[in-house]
Amino acid sequence: MQATGGGRLHLGNLEGALRPWVKLQDSGEWDMFCFVADWHALTKVGDSLTDIADAARNVAIDYLAAGLDPELTAIFKQSDVKEHAELHLLLSMITPIGWVERVPTFKEKRDTVKDNQQQLSYGFLGYPVLQSADILIYRANAVPVGKDQAAHLEISREIARRFNRIVDQEVFPVPEALISEFSGELMGLDARKMSKSYGNAIYISDSEKQTQKAINSAFTTPSKLHITDPGVPEGCAVCSLRRVYDPVTYETQWDECRSGVRGCGQSKKETAEFVNSSLAPIRARRAELMADVSYVDKVLASGADRARAAASDTMRIVRKALKISAA
Ligand code: ADP
Repeated sequence: MQATGGGRLHLGNLEGALRPWVKLQDSGEWDMFCFVADWHALTKVGDSLTDIADAARNVAIDYLAAGLDPELTAIFKQSDVKEHAELHLLLSMITPIGWVERVPTFKEKRDTVKDNQQQLSYGFLGYPVLQSADILIYRANAVPVGKDQAAHLEISREIARRFNRIVDQEVFPVPEALISEFSGELMGLDARKMSKSYGNAIYISDSEKQTQKAINSAFTTPSKLHITDPGVPEGCAVCSLRRVYDPVTYETQWDECRSGVRGCGQSKKETAEFVNSSLAPIRARRAELMADVSYVDKVLASGADRARAAASDTMRIVRKALKISAA
């Protein structure tokens, strides 16, 4: 995940990515590489610099707090493994411009910046190529992605195929999408997708009080002004969080909301309690890590060593396949 916005991860990141990663890790079936995308964060810089190093460490803290285990998974910063940059350069030589220009995030940004084309960097255009390098450098067989993100992997699959065809060798496996079990998107406080950029998120690093306050301010059913007014749980941010954090008994709350025997105040209070109790062990671990950032830095350094060993093996093969080195 990217080291943007101070590097604090939210509940959408937790449910849609971190928890599924931890499950894959704990299954023991995968050799996993989880990095903090600090170079990618630079594509969002524009004219003002932010403290990416600090943000990257915060992302790593959330990774560890959520249960990624450095004994089992290589946890590192992208910028600590320079091989990602070399592979990005080499892949950029074989990637047709049309492929990156067609990527929806690029097209959207190009439309948004309109006259201010200087906001559109060469690095931003190449973002999907760097992302492909991040994956292919580990000759990954699979990449965990959210349901709506399988399309993002398509360009990496195309680049792997094209590279293999050009060098006439199967250097890169064509990576499969491992679709996360979490169905769909976690709703934010305003009932849109929870996202850093919408300002509608609850963060892992928030306190219990902040979480309660955020949920108190969340969007519910606009026409439900009194307890007895019927609510529509499907469009309500609070009910949606309740379903995720209380999967066993949420239906009772939804029924009572619909039939007007409970008010939004009660639902908000209880939902915050469910969210807070689910997050309690993660937040406790987070506090320990915050008190010992030198441990986090050590984890990142040894994760980078492990990743570098795998990445440099790949680069030897890639250089030889491209005939820019003999051995
Ligand atoms: P943001 O929109 O906050 O910038 P990103 O787009 O960087 O988040 O997403 C990082 C990861 O978190 C992705 O794997 C994505 O699937 C997951 N994710 C982000 N927001 C949500 C959400 N609201 N629901 C489920 N998963 C999410």
